[in-house]
Formats: sequence, structure tokens, C-alpha cells
Amino acid sequence: MARSIEELIRDWDGRGVVCRHDRETGTWIFICLHDDTLGPFTGGTRMTSYPSLAAALEDGMRLAAGMTRKWAALGMPYGGGKAVLAVPGPLAGEAREGLLRRYGRLVESLGGRFRTGEDLGTTPDDMRILAQETEFVHGFDRETGEKLDPSPFTARGVWSAIVAACDELFGSPDLAGRSVLVEGVGNVGWRLAELLRSSGATLLASDIDGERSRQAAAELGATLVAPERVADTPCDVYAPCAIGATVNRDTIPRLACRLVAGSANNQLAEPADADRLVERGIAYLPDYVVNGGGAMSFGLMSRGERDPEAIFRQVETIGDTVRELLREAAARGESPVAAADRRVEQVLAAGGEALA
Ligand code: NAD
Repeated sequence: MARSIEELIRDWDGRGVVCRHDRETGTWIFICLHDDTLGPFTGGTRMTSYPSLAAALEDGMRLAAGMTRKWAALGMPYGGGKAVLAVPGPLAGEAREGLLRRYGRLVESLGGRFRTGEDLGTTPDDMRILAQETEFVHGFDRETGEKLDPSPFTARGVWSAIVAACDELFGSPDLAGRSVLVEGVGNVGWRLAELLRSSGATLLASDIDGERSRQAAAELGATLVAPERVADTPCDVYAPCAIGATVNRDTIPRLACRLVAGSANNQLAEPADADRLVERGIAYLPDYVVNGGGAMSFGLMSRGERDPEAIFRQVETIGDTVRELLREAAARGESPVAAADRRVEQVLAAGGEALA
């Protein structure tokens, strides 16, 4: 049964929720502040419509808790937060700008305890409007106004995770001859496919966008796989880079790969899927570790790092984390998800000073 707003707030393990009703647009604003043990609450601003107010709050809380895990797993000095702007319908023009300005002033009033950027339903243009009201927003270059695209950093992180995991599982980091199926050749998937191809991997690709698929075949030399055939297609590595919940009780028995590692958020439909994969002898690398390269790049940029190569080097440490997780999981006979969750607990218990 759906839970009420009172129950959600009462039972949440987060620090609190800032709530505001924007009368002019009928929007409810929830800034969900989950955990600031490691640093200021940091996460994107989502703008969308929800079936109920409780659904909006629950989404914000879940996403904020996910950000706590992500920052801790990356060893970055940020806490978990997320904002949801639950709009009654699509907003454009002056109404949208007005809402963003009022929301920007709310963020500013928190004095830096919450920092935000683009997410589902918000754009770089929205972030530029927010930036006129608050300094606590990232995602574009303040000097040039240009959008900063996290996708190349996310893709590099996924690639480094795959290389490290292949080394651990197959005894060599060399991808030559390894087959990798990239599901979703969009912003991240396309760049990942380019990196994999340069590393000598045999590429398979799947996308519901026919044009995108044709491009992947023509320009990347990928063998195309129909979207409904992804789970049954034999490959060494399955890289979900499209939507969530593609790894579930229906697909796990059919998977014909040794490793699952991709950028998509929430790849497992439910927590029990991690153990189902262990039983099948398939290594699953937790999405929040593998896809953290983009978040990491924004974290580094907001601390003043400007050199993309330095950021790429840092992002590649995701591969080192993956090695540690796989070794720990193998030694304990558990899933890499369990190892990653424990690591998060340890980092949070050690506190922010341990990261400095
Ligand atoms: P995108 O929209 O650019 O690309 C997604 C691609 O997947 C599109 O080409 C789309 O046609 C395809 N697709 C959608 N449904 C599909 C399906 N059922 N089967 C096959 N293909 C399908 O998105 P993106 O920015 O590349 O992000 C991809 C995933 O990674 C998303 O889940 C996103 O939340 C996650 N992610 C992205 C970043 C980033 O830096 N962009 C960071 C962290 C996580």
C-alpha cells in the first residue's frame, strides 16, 4: 500500500526534507537531505509530474539516499541529496523561469548545505537561470556559459570498470577478442563503445532507436542485436546503458554473459537479483560504483579542477575500486553489491575527515 507523506518523513533515515509549495505554478518542491557525513548534501534537481505528492517525495528520498551511497563509494567529500520539483504539467517560458528563480533563492537560503545540478526534466538552460539566484549549482562553465557534459567521464569510468573486472575474472585486462554488448548507444553508450572498440573488443550493440543502431553498425562496426534478444545473446560482458531494471528474475536465467557492468541507474529490478546473479556465476558490478564518473567529474570541477586529463585519471580509479570489490566478494562468497554496500558503511563510519 502506498505510504502517506507523514509516514515517509517519519520513517526516513535521512536528515530532513525542505518543502515548499510554489503557489504561482502549483509546484511542490522537496529538497531531500539524506546524509552529510562526508560533505554538503549534493545531487541533481528533477522536474517532472507525479501521480501523487507522496510519490514525488518518495522518489526524492530514494534518489537522495542513492547519492549518499554513490559519493561514499567514490570516496568523494559530498553528502547525499536530491531535489524534486513536482510540477502539475509541463512548464515553459516565464512560468518555468519564475519557478526556477524562486527555487534558486530557496537553494541559496540553505547557504551551501545543498548543491545541485541537472537531472531528469531539467536542462543546462535551467541551471543557468538557477545560477542567477544561487552560487550552489553546477553543470556548466561559469566563464563561457557552456554546458559541461558528464557523459565522457561516465563512459570512461564504465570502461575502466570493465577492464579491471576482465582482469580479475579472465586473468587479463586485454579486451582484444572479448565480446561486449552495449545496450543503449546514447550519450554514454556510444562513447563507451568507442573506447571498447579502441581497446580491441568485439562490439555488439542494441538500441530501440533504429537510426542510432544503424550508426553504431556503420561507424563503430558493431553487430546489431534486437532489443528483445539482449538477454539471450552470448557475450563476455553485458553493458546496460539505457534503462533500469533490465536485470531481473525473468532475464537473469537467460543471461549468457560472465559480467554485467554498465551506466544505467538501478539495473537490478530488486535487491534479491544480486544473489540470483551470484548463483548463476555472473559478476554484477554495482551501478552506483560503475557509473560514478560523471558525478566525480562535477565534484572535481567544483573543487577547482580544470584539466580534463587529470579528471579522466581520477575517474579511472573506479577500476581500482572494482578490483577491490570483486576480490572481497570472492573471498567472502558474496555479491559485489554486498561488498560495495559494506564499503559505503565503512566510509560513512570513518567520516569526512578520513577523506581529506
Ligand atoms: P541517452 O538518453 O543519451 O541514451 C540512452 C539510449 O538508450 C538512447 O539511444 C535510447 O534510444 C536507448 N534506449 C532506451 N531504451 C532502450 C531499450 N529498452 N533498449 C535499448 N536501447 C534503449 O542517456 P545517457 O545519458 O547515455 O544515459 C544512459 C543511462 O546511464 C541512463 O540510465 C542514465 O540514467 C545513466 N547515467 C548516465 C550518466 C551520464 O553521464 N549521462 C551518468 C550516470 C548514469
